[in-house]
Amino acid sequence: MAKRYCVTGAAGFIGANLVARLKSEGHWVRAVDVKATPERAHLYEQADDFVHGTVGYRGLCGDLREGTTAMRVFADVDRVYHLAADHGGAGYFHGPEDFKAAENNLRIDQNVRKAALQNGIERLFFASSACTYPVDIQGEGARAVKESDWGGGPAEASYGEAKRMSTILFEHSREHGLDARSGLFHTIYGPTQDTEEPRAKFPTAICRKVLDNPERVEVWGDGTQVRTFLYIEDALDRIQAMMEQPYHGPTNLGSDERVTVQDCCEWVAEAAGVSPEWVHTDGPVGVAARAADNTLWNSRYGEGDLTSARDGFGKLYRWMADQRVVA
Ligand code: NAD
Repeated sequence: MAKRYCVTGAAGFIGANLVARLKSEGHWVRAVDVKATPERAHLYEQADDFVHGTVGYRGLCGDLREGTTAMRVFADVDRVYHLAADHGGAGYFHGPEDFKAAENNLRIDQNVRKAALQNGIERLFFASSACTYPVDIQGEGARAVKESDWGGGPAEASYGEAKRMSTILFEHSREHGLDARSGLFHTIYGPTQDTEEPRAKFPTAICRKVLDNPERVEVWGDGTQVRTFLYIEDALDRIQAMMEQPYHGPTNLGSDERVTVQDCCEWVAEAAGVSPEWVHTDGPVGVAARAADNTLWNSRYGEGDLTSARDGFGKLYRWMADQRVVA
């Protein structure tokens, strides 16, 4: 019999794109989210069932902080992609929202884990984060982080600590019959991602700033921060590979291409056909160097062709520019 899937955080950026991917592969999908997000409705409304809101909707509510929500929405599904989280960019986790976000996420993850165990969910994907890696090994000039670095010193912000604890608990559930699989996401970006602070991440924030004022653009930090960015279509391929193929523990989902923030700024300007004055300011920048070491991924799942950051930032900029024309 065909399997039934549930995607939590389905109105969010990755969740909504995943719903559309699963539907294009012919699956039955239930989408769950605490809220609806009109900009992504064309994606998550492809689901066979959409449970959302903080108040009852056909007897159900989409708020996973409530203990009963996950119990009910998982009752008749086989597999779960758990992406729901109180989530945002660096400005969010290095600001006053950080603690509240961590608390919400711990509640959500605990409810999801318990309900998955009690409902006999066959397999679950958990969206963990590169923020779970120790910050003290990600200073200037640091090498890329690999899975064996995991679990050392303090993670990035309360958000990273909470994701790390939940990842540990999902791993532990494997001993109790839940085939939980955690992907350590290194910034995933692309069209339909939130564009406004505090939810925007660097890729959409920099495109928005270039669109707002192509002559003078503020950039948080000095631009030398090193990152790896994974384009949304490539991320969906990797999530599906982790879900369908044998599991090898929490694994980096990131690109191999190390770039600086300033490189990305230049690629956005190139796509826009402008030459802004870049004004570097004191903003929340996170660690100096975070890159994914994909040795484990490449040996287990194969390298594959990934979208280059130059192409990805160009595509994202053009999508955001088109949205403004339509508006
Ligand atoms: P997003 O903010 O766009 O999506 C998260 C969704 O979860 C939102 O639609 C939100 O409404 C929903 N949600 C929040 N609280 C909820 C609750 N109580 N009940 C039900 N739904 C709730 O984020 P995203 O970029 O799509 O990220 C998806 C997942 O991947 C998150 O778990 C995030 O922590 C993780 N992650 C993302 C990145 C990235 O680069 N995008 C990096 C690391 C980890």
